[in-house]
Amino acid sequence: MIQQIAFIGVLAGTIYLVWKRVAFIRRNINLGKSKEVVSSPDRVRNMVLVAFGQQKMFKRPIPALLHLFIYVGFLVINLEVLEFLIDGVAGTHRIFADIPFYGILMNLFEFLAVAVLVSCLIMLFRRNVLKVRRLNMTELNGWPRLDANVILITEVALMCAILLMNASDQLLQEVSPHYAKTGTLFFSSFVMSILKGQSIPGLTIIERAAWWFHIIGILAFAVYITYSKHLHIALAFPNTYFANVAPKGEMQNMPVVTNEVKIMLGLSAADSAPAATPGRFGAKDVNDLTWNNLLGAYSCTECGRCTAECPANLTGKKLSPRKIMMDTRDRMEEVGKSLDSGGAGLADGKSLLDNYITREEINACTSCNACVEACPVMINPLEIILELRRYVAMEESGAPASWNSMFQNIETSFAPWKFSPGDRFNWANELKK
Ligand code: SF4
Ligand code: SF4
Repeated sequence: MIQQIAFIGVLAGTIYLVWKRVAFIRRNINLGKSKEVVSSPDRVRNMVLVAFGQQKMFKRPIPALLHLFIYVGFLVINLEVLEFLIDGVAGTHRIFADIPFYGILMNLFEFLAVAVLVSCLIMLFRRNVLKVRRLNMTELNGWPRLDANVILITEVALMCAILLMNASDQLLQEVSPHYAKTGTLFFSSFVMSILKGQSIPGLTIIERAAWWFHIIGILAFAVYITYSKHLHIALAFPNTYFANVAPKGEMQNMPVVTNEVKIMLGLSAADSAPAATPGRFGAKDVNDLTWNNLLGAYSCTECGRCTAECPANLTGKKLSPRKIMMDTRDRMEEVGKSLDSGGAGLADGKSLLDNYITREEINACTSCNACVEACPVMINPLEIILELRRYVAMEESGAPASWNSMFQNIETSFAPWKFSPGDRFNWANELKK
């Protein structure tokens, strides 16, 4: 009874903390501008293939396989967590033990637990010993690196707890009818040899301690991921659904500017009404981005695949598309916390541009879309970079001098070069000679 009351208290506390944090994140995402999203079969296909099917992960087979074990383990072992939850609330023990194939299911869970355990150990090795470049860049210093290690170590501990619990449970099944028969559980049978010689009270304590450790770990994990890059476990699904389905390279023009250009080129009547009021050109802070961009920032897994493909980063420039997403999320968190504590929020004198992302970074972008193509959850760092650059160029006229002369040439000569449109085909005269 005491265990039941304690469990229900812990569960209620977990639900409250998760709900509170979800409301905080939702409010932060809604700081962004509205963006119309038209539903289409492409969106559902993206979500099924990319988020659920892990399609884009398999461009790098080794990490993909390790991630797949953890992902499938997470999905399937959650079925066992359901049994933990019901047992915890109802005060039962292995409530599903009588269903057909229970022993087979438990063996499957154990296989996945071992696969998750081994995958996590290899990932820790790659991250901390092999020091894979994309997992050891400067933007990961501090909390992001700690976050990745904490979660991997926690998963190892949770999987060990499952095996320890099953091993002690199997030994107790031999002496007490309270412990439902599961049949032989292959992997935990190896752990049983360590426990042989323990007294019945000793085994009972080990079984209960492992059970509590596992379920408290899972509930703590549920709260923790809302503060971590592991939020992608949930947000990868909406993010892939709402991701841009337009062809890559198609940039989001501002309707009012497009109209001006059309008038200039004689493609539209001068009295055509602008499609929308201009508002601010580009983005200076998170509220100038769309909610879709902000959802992407919270969905980022910090995997660095974007940065590993970025030609600017590879040639030693300061730009890292992963950092763009991390900075956007960090700024949202800062504004959100300020709003919650009655502070100035967006009016705190800071902004995403300059306080988080420098002009040097955004100017280094070649707009090549390699980061967008590489992202396993269809995040678009380029959209944010372009909006920040648009702000600098159009609101501040602060683009580099060489760009400004190019803009001027496009405006006056309809080409980046400074010659008259009438002279454009002069080069062909050479061919006639
Ligand atoms: S679009 Fe920009 S940030 Fe993305 S990979 Fe290309 S250069 Fe890097
Ligand atoms: S934006 Fe995508 S590719 Fe880049 S770190 Fe985040 S999840 Fe990985």
